[in-house]
Amino acid sequence: MLQVQNLRKTYDDRTVVNDVSFEVAAGEIFALLGPNGAGKTTLIRMITDILRPDSGTVTFAGRPLRGPDRARVAYLPEERGLYRRSGVLDTLAYFGELKGLASGAARREATTLLAEFGLEAWGAKQVQALSKGMQQKVQLCAALIGRPELLILDEPFSGLDPINVQVLETVLRQRRAEGTTVLLSTHQMNKVEQQCDRALMINRGHMVLYGRVAELRRHYGAHAFEVHAATRPPQVAGITSLEPHGAHWRATLAPEAEPQHVLAALVAQGAAVQAFIPMVPPLEDIFVDVVQRGVGLDQGQSGPPTIDEPVTPGGAR
Ligand code: ATP
Repeated sequence: MLQVQNLRKTYDDRTVVNDVSFEVAAGEIFALLGPNGAGKTTLIRMITDILRPDSGTVTFAGRPLRGPDRARVAYLPEERGLYRRSGVLDTLAYFGELKGLASGAARREATTLLAEFGLEAWGAKQVQALSKGMQQKVQLCAALIGRPELLILDEPFSGLDPINVQVLETVLRQRRAEGTTVLLSTHQMNKVEQQCDRALMINRGHMVLYGRVAELRRHYGAHAFEVHAATRPPQVAGITSLEPHGAHWRATLAPEAEPQHVLAALVAQGAAVQAFIPMVPPLEDIFVDVVQRGVGLDQGQSGPPTIDEPVTPGGAR
């Protein structure tokens, strides 16, 4: 659906997006991650043709994102703004018409969206009469109107209470089920774990992680296992440390150890193993670790990773 190849942007001799390549498949929720100043907004602006890259290409469904194709993509930027004195429904209908809807269809879709976000009673009010969170929901409706094929959302959960966060999550899941592709930029790692299929993380303009969220977490934590056993398991080849972990044991494996061989060795030595579970670190820990170590995939790596070959921090070292 979206293909980004070797994008680069330099400001005053400082390269803020450095050779970034990735793909977003149709119908997936893809996370764009990175610390403040990493280059996410610059990257999104180049994807949406707001900013011209120094080099590299962006294609959407096989073509550059120009002209009428731009209406197929909606972008909710981090810096939000609506005309305060405009009516809520009028504002949304206006955005709908910008996306190519006829006036009547735009008003009908705006009304449906307002109801989806629990704002049906607010259509006739001026934007300035709404609270900050309610205005945020109107901005989301403005991004969703016209049923864009690709939805780019920068921190869409900000300012929403937990109930409205759930409403937005439900809407995103529904849209995904209907085939919408979502590119989500957020600092809320738990949302990425719950909602996103794959992720790209950039740091100082460089790609540092790229792949399936579940894979990235599994690879990062692949060598620690929670072992459930009535008594302390024996020390076997491949285990570098074995410590109590709550009611169970935490076994750290040598980097080259195969987990199934270690489990087989434990059982062969008579350990009554009830469970042997990979300990998957939260994405937040991985984020902090990768940023603090300041590694990049282009350091010691021959080329950008491909969609089929999720690159793990192990590959980045
Ligand atoms: P945040 O999470 O804080 O929003 P970000 O990842 O979106 O950060 P960008 O806004 O893309 O980061 O900025 C990346 C770098 O590019 C920053 O160091 C910023 O100072 C620089 N930058 C962005 N726009 C410009 C500009 N117009 N001129 C010069 N430098 C810029």
